[in-house]
Amino acid sequence: MFLLDTLHEGLAGLDARGLTRRRRTADTPCAAHMTVDGREIVGFASNDYLGLAAHPRLTEAMAEGARRYGAGSGGSHLLGGHSRAHALLEDELAAFAGGFVDAPRALTFSTGYMSNLAALTALAGRGTALFSDELNHASLIDGARLSRADVQIYPHADTEALTAMLEASDAPAKVIVTDAVFSMDGSIAPLARLVELAERHGAWLVVDDAHGFGVLGPRGRGAVAQAALRSPHLVYLCTFGKAVGAAGAAVIAHETVIEWMLQRARPYIFTTAAPPAAAHAVSASLALIAGEEGEARRRHLAALIARTREILQRTRWRPIDSPTAVQPLVIGGNDETLALAACLDADGMWVPAIRPPTVPAGTSRLRISLSAAHSFDDLARLQAALVRAGESA
Ligand SMILES: *Cc1c(COP(=O)(O)O)cnc(C)c1O
Repeated sequence: MFLLDTLHEGLAGLDARGLTRRRRTADTPCAAHMTVDGREIVGFASNDYLGLAAHPRLTEAMAEGARRYGAGSGGSHLLGGHSRAHALLEDELAAFAGGFVDAPRALTFSTGYMSNLAALTALAGRGTALFSDELNHASLIDGARLSRADVQIYPHADTEALTAMLEASDAPAKVIVTDAVFSMDGSIAPLARLVELAERHGAWLVVDDAHGFGVLGPRGRGAVAQAALRSPHLVYLCTFGKAVGAAGAAVIAHETVIEWMLQRARPYIFTTAAPPAAAHAVSASLALIAGEEGEARRRHLAALIARTREILQRTRWRPIDSPTAVQPLVIGGNDETLALAACLDADGMWVPAIRPPTVPAGTSRLRISLSAAHSFDDLARLQAALVRAGESA
């Protein structure tokens, strides 16, 4: 059939360029050591930075939340689906991470992808100039497109180029959008400088802290808290599927921004609220993250990060200088990167190969993602596997 032939050709084209993606199936919970496709492996693929995804306190909270509130929310937030679990979580989030604005309020979502579509479509529209870092996450790119704003991409973290673009713009409304921690580089955005620019040019600054929330800053309050920033221009996005170990996301900002989103953001209004049990589990995780156990896990993670940087510097490939749990090793070509990942896999190390369009062409890489659940022995095994792979390459 002709229609299928077109797709077959498309798939063959991806394959020829080393761009076919395949899923692996985990038989056990997300953890440092897991069974994947029936084999035992050491996992360096997850974003479970604090090792909380299978923590007994979270799994118990999820179960208790389901017993108390049921399995599903039953509707959208504005039509019956907003539960006490969501409401409590919003209050806790505003108190935990909202210290960067007066009158902070939080709005929860079922995923970070949705929260990003909602924030950008609520704050930007036709005629808005939206300035976006070239390495921003796909959900921000899609949110910018959906908003119909005039999107201007600035070179990665280049605040001088951004200044020139802001000065040249006479748009009546402006929004600057950035990842706080860039998901495929692990680098941190120049947030203090971005806040200055947002204030000088009357722009919103939307900061997506998917990879910093829970990990960075005092008590894990995130990248904005780490940089000790405070500004009414800030709109903060955090997600719960990564360090928090559960699912969902939130936007935190001044209460008026949140009220506007609640009234206007279609990706908030026209979707079923996340299961209340998930919100209940996130609340349990926040308590853990803010407490002593969270502190201990962040300390261990910091030590693992330091050790991994030493290990990667001794390989023949190009590590990206990253201070976070995302430790990329740039290899270059797609096939080369896949071959190296396969080599590590043969040694029981699951390290994903990241290729275009997730990263720019020619910068395919291994993305080593660390978790407080890893041990130094896991890193020693990774190092040995990298040495063997380097010898055979
Ligand atoms: C993972 C991620 C998201 C999406 O969050 P989900 O909850 O997985 O939908 C958004 N932004 C960044 C930077 C991310 O890494």
